[in-house]
Amino acid sequence: MGKIKAEVIVKGKVDRMQKMSPPFSHIYVEKEIIAHPRTEKILDFFCHEEEGRKQERHIIEITHYKDVFCRKRQDISLQKQAPALILAKKRDHFLYSGSPVCQNFDEKHFYYTSCVMNCLYDCEYCYLQGMYPSGNLVIFVNLEDTLLAVEQMLKKHEVYLCISYDTDLMALENITGFVKEWSEFAGNHKNVKIECRTKCGRRDLWKALSPNENMIFAFTISPEEVVEKFEHRTASLEDRLSCATEALRLGFPVRLCFDPMIYIPDWKEKYGKMLDKVKEKFSYSLDCLYDISIGSFRISQDYLKKIRRVQKNSAVLNFPFENVSGVYQYPQKLMEEMEGFLKEQLENDLPAEKIFFWK
Ligand code: SF4
Repeated sequence: MGKIKAEVIVKGKVDRMQKMSPPFSHIYVEKEIIAHPRTEKILDFFCHEEEGRKQERHIIEITHYKDVFCRKRQDISLQKQAPALILAKKRDHFLYSGSPVCQNFDEKHFYYTSCVMNCLYDCEYCYLQGMYPSGNLVIFVNLEDTLLAVEQMLKKHEVYLCISYDTDLMALENITGFVKEWSEFAGNHKNVKIECRTKCGRRDLWKALSPNENMIFAFTISPEEVVEKFEHRTASLEDRLSCATEALRLGFPVRLCFDPMIYIPDWKEKYGKMLDKVKEKFSYSLDCLYDISIGSFRISQDYLKKIRRVQKNSAVLNFPFENVSGVYQYPQKLMEEMEGFLKEQLENDLPAEKIFFWK
């Protein structure tokens, strides 16, 4: 079967599209959702024209996504070069309680949801490599069932929901349209607060969205050296900041996440330069941000063990971390020094209640 080209404009820059968008090797579709309107829409996205004629879609029908996604002995590194796309139905686990290694922003009812598994980006340190048995990408097309589950929960209490943890939804927006749907949901429900985390630089997306105070766009911000070396296929620091400032200008609530901070040689100088750029981009007025978070890299012991098998030569992952109650993190002194450095540099720009730390 020939490769199906996913023309995903991740950065909005045509010349970088090839680098950014791995072609999907195959498209698998669960029989049960083959007639779902979102399946149809997504498959249409991959219909391409050649010599003026629309090409037939090459799809493989399957019974359950796990038949492909959970096969034994998959080569995740290889799959990440050209993953398969799997369209499936989410049948359970619509909401998960927030993990202790994640920043909860002091929210009492902290949940996350996973409408897509795996990511178009390829961060060397990404925990997904330790969590999933496959590098293939699964899109659960029945978003309406997750929305319903959130609605049920909202009848009991308010909800703080992270929708872009196990993927980068903004990078997939051309294919799924999920960010728009979540944004509309947030606009229609008073007691929900949604966070959409991204390393994307797509300024064109804002046109399709309406700002509302319940939908926060959270940009992970890293020094250019970290982006280049470890956050493969993601937008550059410059592009992420341009995207964030544009969002702010249009009235979207914007959060900056200096998380995960990655230890690199000359980290202080590199993170200092990054902050100079951030402040310059925001015209030295960070107070207009929704808030910021600061956190150094940490990961559960089980995931790290598995990721090290995938990323054997990774300098980030082979750091001699300390294991604190099942979570690997930088040694206490280094962790405090790194996070303290950013705090010191930022505390004059934002009130203390807008600066959050992991733990
Ligand atoms: S952007 Fe996030 S989800 Fe995607 S590979 Fe990087 S860390 Fe993983």
